[in-house]
Amino acid sequence: MSERLIDSFGRVHNNLRISVTDRCNIRCFYCMPADHVQFMDRQELLTFEEIERFVRIVVPLGVNKLRLTGGEPLVRRDLPQLVEKLSSISGIRDIGLTTNGILFGEQAQALFDAGLRRVNISLDALDPAVFREVTRREGYEKVVESIHTAKQVGFNPVKVNAVAIRNLTEDQIVPFGHFARDTGVEIRFIEFMPLDADNAWERDKVLFGHEIIERLSSEIAPLIPIGQADPNAPATDFEFADGIGRIGLIASVSQPFCSQCNRFRITADGKLRNCLFSMEETDIKSLLRGNATDDEIIAAIRNSIAAKNEGHEINTASFIQPDRPMYSIGG
Ligand code: SAM
Ligand code: SF4
Repeated sequence: MSERLIDSFGRVHNNLRISVTDRCNIRCFYCMPADHVQFMDRQELLTFEEIERFVRIVVPLGVNKLRLTGGEPLVRRDLPQLVEKLSSISGIRDIGLTTNGILFGEQAQALFDAGLRRVNISLDALDPAVFREVTRREGYEKVVESIHTAKQVGFNPVKVNAVAIRNLTEDQIVPFGHFARDTGVEIRFIEFMPLDADNAWERDKVLFGHEIIERLSSEIAPLIPIGQADPNAPATDFEFADGIGRIGLIASVSQPFCSQCNRFRITADGKLRNCLFSMEETDIKSLLRGNATDDEIIAAIRNSIAAKNEGHEINTASFIQPDRPMYSIGG
């Protein structure tokens, strides 16, 4: 293996998140504008062949974990074909997908057959009215059905991502706790981050992780932290004291995990980002399309990783929200 991707703080980067589109079939308010979204031109999107070449370049640098995301990755046509290409690359030991679940049910088997095993389905509310308020679209039933289909088809683990928002989703927490216990699906609560397209994030809207744990512990059963299988995972995992039901917390605002970060991202239009919150990007697409050699691309990747900041500054007065909202970065 060539020298790994290590930044100036000693963090080793083995985890690449690949956005395959900025398009989406719903409009979560914490991510996208309600209407008139300016999507990327289709010819700006990296082709599956370009994504595959990029992955083949980073695997010898130590990358062994991939996650496909977007936008909504399943609105990109023929996604199972990309999964198949990537899962056949020797050195990749883990491919995950993050999806809003609307189209997952109908593609689950094809994705599984292509080699996908891990899926995170996003669902912020078990109350359909709250779902509609968050997403500004219909589709609740399909998402819930997809969660069950994922289990039936054999995906493991199946996790649910739920963004926690004050004055909106508090009442969903306890029902989600029961859902985790009844289904065996881990619910991962994510603190609302300042990456919305409307620039309407406020600290007061963040429902903090410790509040969620306190509520579940007092209303269902005590939650006990469990050891991390992967020390670089952003989530802290808990189990109810009676051993039934798991809860994860991604407390990016109240307990940043930047010091363990092993992730970098490529956007659907081929820009490398060393952090969700970074202000600079490296244009990999121009290199891929401009006949750059693998070594030239590796040099660009190394420069990007070397320039990674120590951490995000959400909790400081100097924080500036990046221009790209979540749907265009790839969450
Ligand atoms: N469309 C897919 C989905 O929703 O799962 C994949 C892309 S989405 C950007 C990835 C994850 O980011 C989702 O779980 C979503 O809830 C989360 N997310 C989006 N905007 C967020 C924000 N401002 N703060 C916290 N999480 C956010
Ligand atoms: Fe679409 Fe996912 Fe953003 Fe919701 S969070 S608008 S599903 S990309």
